[in-house]
Amino acid sequence: MHHFKYKNGALHCEDVSIRDIADQVGTPFYLYSTATLKRHFQAFDSGFDGVDHLTCFAVKACSNIAVLNLFGQMGGGADIVSGGELFRAMKAGVDPKKIIYSGVGKTLAEMREAMYAGILMFNVESPQELDRLQDVGAELGGTARIAFRINPDVDPKTHAYISTGLAKNKFGVPAGEALQEYLRARDMENIEIVGVSCHIGSQLTQIEPFIEALRKIKVFVGRLEKEGITIKYLDLGGGVGITYDDERPPHPSDYAKAVREELADMDCTLILEPGRVISGNAGILVTEVQYTKVNSGGENDKRFVIVDAAMNDLTRPALYGAYHEIIPVREGGESMEQVDIVGPICETGDFMARDRMMPEVAQGDLLAIMSSGAYGFSMSSNYNSRLRAAEVLVSDSRFQIIRYREEVEDLLRGESISALG
Ligand SMILES: *Cc1c(COP(=O)(O)O)cnc(C)c1O
Repeated sequence: MHHFKYKNGALHCEDVSIRDIADQVGTPFYLYSTATLKRHFQAFDSGFDGVDHLTCFAVKACSNIAVLNLFGQMGGGADIVSGGELFRAMKAGVDPKKIIYSGVGKTLAEMREAMYAGILMFNVESPQELDRLQDVGAELGGTARIAFRINPDVDPKTHAYISTGLAKNKFGVPAGEALQEYLRARDMENIEIVGVSCHIGSQLTQIEPFIEALRKIKVFVGRLEKEGITIKYLDLGGGVGITYDDERPPHPSDYAKAVREELADMDCTLILEPGRVISGNAGILVTEVQYTKVNSGGENDKRFVIVDAAMNDLTRPALYGAYHEIIPVREGGESMEQVDIVGPICETGDFMARDRMMPEVAQGDLLAIMSSGAYGFSMSSNYNSRLRAAEVLVSDSRFQIIRYREEVEDLLRGESISALG
């Protein structure tokens, strides 16, 4: 359920006309609905009502500080994967005691910053990382709280690029090796073992892989207990999918129910790291049609709609062949045509949709690329020296620019012409 609806033939975000925003902000821009963000956070979080838990929004899904602040105010924490995301979460006012740090390649500098900030837990992904963290703890005279990220070797049945819980993926430590790492960590002066973590992938549409992973984690926690190591936090990662096209992902409440049943006999605080399921359908990318054209190839006339958003703005179609629903901001008529919706970038991979049946559109029309609130702006780049888009947040009948469109000077920031002769 989201809050992007037609009213009198004009697409609105909550009570604001999207055409009105475009007239003031220009295109392309990302547009988020406060009501949808809140509703999705609440829907997810309330599934765990009555259980000790902490919902840490995965910052990489949608990193704008206005969005992070919203979840912080609702009692949420943050799952971060870099020093930059730590900076964002802190600026957004997220309580550092609710920040979890995941990722396979944490640098010394990043560890120091996170230690200094006093985050809740590092999810450690290799023996070397543990050693480095111990060094940082000793250097700063503190204790790093850790969980090991266990790679449970479970097939999440999602796109290969976003599978993370298979033995062949770079993530985590195999359960077989993790025990000895926990024993090693136990003897480290500046390390405190507090948890076990696991994240098997993104855009999962079935519950079974989650449960399969969870069962393996439970067995592992049992083994730790035999060694006298008790776990305070069980971090289950993110991964619940959303509907882009015709996927039928589990409802967050069904996911929560299944997890709770599986964990009924365990006594620890649950940490969840949802990203996509919260922000994915709470944001859209609004773009303007620049040109339409037909490249005739005899029987295979190809119709193109060229828009002002490109793969640098929304990478998912180019990167994963991902499907995004695309609808006109002025409600379409009866007349349909099959088109490729493409951006201006000089790569054939720069498409938003291929062979898509769409109501006929014309130059100057606005299109809404739906389900762009996760891995949308946060994956955008300046490729082709394109300015990164504005981000806009709507609440009821008002809107606010939460990130200005970049200007050409932003493109050159830090660059200089060589003085070396
Ligand atoms: C990406 C990621 C998430 C969020 O995944 P979603 O599929 O967006 O819910 C959570 N935890 C970790 C460790 C991640 O890398």
